[in-house]
Amino acid sequence: MTRRIFLAVLALCTVVTAGVEAQSLDPIRYTLRFPAPHTHYVEIEAAIPTGGRPQVEVYMATWTPGSYLIREYERHVEAVTANAAGRSLSVAKSTKNRWRITTGGAATVTLRYKVYGREMTVRNNWVESAFAMLNGAPTFITLVERAARPHEVRVELPAAWRSVQTALTPVAGSANTFRAEDFDALVDSPIIIGNPITREFIVDGKKHVVLFEGDTALIDADRAVADVQKIVQAGRSVMGSLPYPHYYFMTMVTEASGALEHKNSYLGMTGRFATRTRGAYMGWLGTLAHEYFHAWNVKRLRPVELGPFDYENENYVKTLWVAEGFTDYYADILPRRGGVSTRDEFLNGLSGHIEQVQTTPGRLTTPVDMASFDTWIKQYRPYENTANTSINYYPKGAVIAFLLDAKIRKATNGARTLDTGMQWAMQRYSGDKGYTPAQFYAVMSEAAGVDLKDWFARTAESTEELDYDEALDYYGLRFRSVDPTTAPAYWGGATRNDNGRLIVSSVRRGTPALDAGLNVDDEILAIDDVRVRAEGLATRLAQYRPGDKVSLLVARRDRLMTLNVTLGADPGRPWRLEPAPNATDEQKARFETLMSGR
Ligand SMILES: [Zn+2]
Repeated sequence: MTRRIFLAVLALCTVVTAGVEAQSLDPIRYTLRFPAPHTHYVEIEAAIPTGGRPQVEVYMATWTPGSYLIREYERHVEAVTANAAGRSLSVAKSTKNRWRITTGGAATVTLRYKVYGREMTVRNNWVESAFAMLNGAPTFITLVERAARPHEVRVELPAAWRSVQTALTPVAGSANTFRAEDFDALVDSPIIIGNPITREFIVDGKKHVVLFEGDTALIDADRAVADVQKIVQAGRSVMGSLPYPHYYFMTMVTEASGALEHKNSYLGMTGRFATRTRGAYMGWLGTLAHEYFHAWNVKRLRPVELGPFDYENENYVKTLWVAEGFTDYYADILPRRGGVSTRDEFLNGLSGHIEQVQTTPGRLTTPVDMASFDTWIKQYRPYENTANTSINYYPKGAVIAFLLDAKIRKATNGARTLDTGMQWAMQRYSGDKGYTPAQFYAVMSEAAGVDLKDWFARTAESTEELDYDEALDYYGLRFRSVDPTTAPAYWGGATRNDNGRLIVSSVRRGTPALDAGLNVDDEILAIDDVRVRAEGLATRLAQYRPGDKVSLLVARRDRLMTLNVTLGADPGRPWRLEPAPNATDEQKARFETLMSGR
């Protein structure tokens, strides 16, 4: 029996008894202190009930849900000690991320440790003089056990910091103290401590908090909160109701990037100019809409494999193209339906997904469900050959969602949509259940009124090319035409400017560059015996026509060599959507319905 099956069997028992256990188990109580935040440390004291056992084992998670890579958080932990009633206890490390505490029979032991936080990513911690950003997985050491034990967190605020912001439940009567019903909820609730800008609004009687921490001087929070509210209302219309008790939109203005979904909040990062230009602002809002839609899709409606989490090992799942890709599709839909983005911005987002899929050679090598399964070794570990061998499940999943939505609408004459399928899936499989691929295919088939099992097998489980005709015809769209007779010359390699040196950074399959034997890290020195500078490649290529043969002088590990390239025709950008000029009123109306949700 593998560890995962073992956990899954026990989880069934937990479902039945969780309510009782949560009440009967004493909480672990953490106190967080920041005696010298400028040194990037948080000091943690954890009062851990032992149940009277002579030894207890505790651990720190090695990864955080939503970011599928083993991160080895324990490497930032130090000074681990334990005591009970003033006596120090033996703490012995048992694995890279576990410790065994000899309790001496004490009912509660106090574990103390320090965590270094100086990684500005949404999956780790940052502590500095101005603020602290803490995530659950890299912060809280907990008991090795399967029971749903409550965890409480009390924060001792440094004098210069005003507030603690988190989606955890406040404990009434105790300042800066919060409660999680179990370890999952603790891991799933980032904590921002400092002096953030906050704005609030209410939808369906539920509090929504929009906050910015970091360099917030140039952030237009009032404009942002008005648009976030429209996105919330659009999300509510798509899914029928709001599934959370309250929701925190948390943005760190730290010149970093990335965002991560949680059940009742999201944590993201952006730059100080995020609300200053249309492009940056829509980028921030699009990411926010993506993470927000995860409150339904993946945090509640989830693949069966994503719960209960094994926080110490990889959790393999084949449907991240639903969890991430369908969420990306709705990340374009929600701002449009909320009136925040324009039709062209919506079409541009959709075109971007299609273009990314159709220009990635790896789509012909790896089915998207296997790209999901291998995310632990591929999606989160990209290198120069990734595009040739794998497909990103975000855009491919988004494109499948677009095609599926059209399919359901067409098959039901507009009576049902992908929204219907997502609502039904949410009703059936959210919470403790989770869905298998077959169950997801079945509920979508039901929404469409036709069996889509074979269609899913082709789109998600094979490397067959996607068929766009049905969706484009349904909405009266077309791909922008590219005239092949006027295409410029093309070699197909990608380069980077390394201090003025022109270095090959990737060579994709099916390109003249690969056929000619160009390697990643080759330095291109000359084309047809004339020197080419890093910034001059495009200008030089423009001197040639498709079919021309050119010689490239390259340095490979400093050895000079000549490679002969037969230039091809630039494929251009044939995957950009536009309204078909001959679209009927009916087709146009269908596209308007998709964009408005009405
Ligand atoms: Zn996501």
